[in-house]
Amino acid sequence: MLIAGNWKMFKGPAETAEFCVALRERTLPPAVDVVVCPPYVSLAVAVQLLAGTEVAVAAQNLHWEDEGAFTGEVSALMLRELGVYGAIVGHSERRQHFGETDETVARRARAALDAGLSVIACVGETEAEREAGDTEQVLRRQVSVLEADEQLVVAYEPVWAIGTGKTATPELAQEAHALIKSLLHVPVLYGGSVKPENAAELMAQPAVDGALVGGASLDVDSFIAICQAASR
Ligand code: PEP
Repeated sequence: MLIAGNWKMFKGPAETAEFCVALRERTLPPAVDVVVCPPYVSLAVAVQLLAGTEVAVAAQNLHWEDEGAFTGEVSALMLRELGVYGAIVGHSERRQHFGETDETVARRARAALDAGLSVIACVGETEAEREAGDTEQVLRRQVSVLEADEQLVVAYEPVWAIGTGKTATPELAQEAHALIKSLLHVPVLYGGSVKPENAAELMAQPAVDGALVGGASLDVDSFIAICQAASR
């Protein structure tokens, strides 16, 4: 099981330090890999404070070139230099608000994997796509640009369930995960309003290999509770 916390645009270096110091004092449950994904400016402090613990630190995005005239971007090599273990790519917020396409997601994933980083690649349908009966077609399209790799994990995050409090039913998650796994032989995380109260039921599905957690990963207690639910 893998539990990754996507902090989105929350927690600057000071709050990150506070979270990491608190997390260090807690006992992590067995058989769960734990990852936190702070904003770029907070990666260094997280790497430093979580060094020597079981918790890995990943970025929320990266650019596919090693360096160049790409104002505002950060490369895989830069993340490697910082001691970061991996990166999220293709989060729906980047697809919705920053023009991310399947093609750019694929380029980011390839560059990260080539640089030796682990990748959590996000896929998922919008509410309109689900209502139109297009979920399978959307997932097939989004997954088709990714290549299986030992360091690649896919996160199934139905867009209508992110930050909305609407969680996919365990059956619906299972169905989407099984489809993704039939297309690509990689672990698949579920994401979308995962909380301590619903985590165990979702993690109990055979095709669910962990969770990408947004809002509930910002608090040490609820993040640990989700890790514990995944461990059972
Ligand atoms: C996410 O940001 O990846 C996410 C799933 O958010 P939330 O858990 O807040 O719905």
